[in-house]
Amino acid sequence: MLLNWWKRRRRETVRGEPVPETWSGILDQNVGMFARLTPEEQRKLLADMQVFIAEKHWEGCRGIEITEEIRVTVAAQACLLVLGFEEEYFDQVRTVLISPRDYARKGLTVTDRGLVIEGEYQYSGEAWSRGPVVLSWEDVLDGGRNETDGENLVLHEFAHQLDMQNGRVADGIPPLPTEERLHAWLEVFDAEYERHRIDCRRGRYTLLDPYGAEDPSEFFAVTTECFFERPRALAVRHPRLYEQFRDFYRQDPALRFS
Ligand SMILES: [Zn+2]
Repeated sequence: MLLNWWKRRRRETVRGEPVPETWSGILDQNVGMFARLTPEEQRKLLADMQVFIAEKHWEGCRGIEITEEIRVTVAAQACLLVLGFEEEYFDQVRTVLISPRDYARKGLTVTDRGLVIEGEYQYSGEAWSRGPVVLSWEDVLDGGRNETDGENLVLHEFAHQLDMQNGRVADGIPPLPTEERLHAWLEVFDAEYERHRIDCRRGRYTLLDPYGAEDPSEFFAVTTECFFERPRALAVRHPRLYEQFRDFYRQDPALRFS
C-alpha cells in the first residue's frame, strides 16, 4: 500500500517535469503518428513517456549505445498503445534491449503438424513474459517513420506484453474488465482469426499481415498494428474486429486519419 503510494507520488513528480526541448525534433523525425494526435493526447503521451523512460532499464546489445533518440522513439510508440489507459506503464517490462538491426538466434518453431523444430531464426524483436522486450533499432525507425503502412515493431511487441498481462501466456486475449466483454471478444476474435487463416491458406489478399495466421497471439499483435496504422481500412473490412479493439484500447484511431 505504502509502496504504491510512493510509486504514484514519484510518478506524478516525473510527469510534471518539463519535457526536454530535444524531444520535439526527435518525434517530428521518427514518430509520424505524433503529429496526428490532438494537443491533449500529445500532452498525455509526453507525460507517460517521461515515466516510461525513467523506469525502464535500457540496454544496447551487439555494439549499439543507448541514446536519447532511441529512448524517445521507442517510448512514444509503446505509450501510444496505452494512451487510452490511466497509469499503465508496462510494469512487467523492466528492461528494453536494443539491437542495431535484426539478429539471428536459436529458437523453436512449431510446424503445421505440431512438430517442434529447433533452428537458427532471424528476429526483429521479441517480447518475453515477465522479461525484456527486444527491439531492432532499424525496424523501430522504419515502423515509427511510416505510420500508415500497418507495420510497427514497437506496437507489435508491446501488444504481446498487454496480451500476457492477465497472467496467461500470449493467447490473443488481453485483460478485459467483465465476463460479458470477454465473451464478446472471444466470439468476434475467434471468428476473425479463423477467417484470416482460411484466407491465408487459400492465398487470398488479406489486409492483416499473413503472419497473424501463425497463432492467436500473433493475430492479436498484427491486428493491433493495423488498428493503429490503417484504422479506416480495418473498420471497413473488419468492422466487428475494429469495434472490439477500439473498446479494448479505448482509442478511435480512425479519427486521426479523417
Ligand atoms: Zn509477434
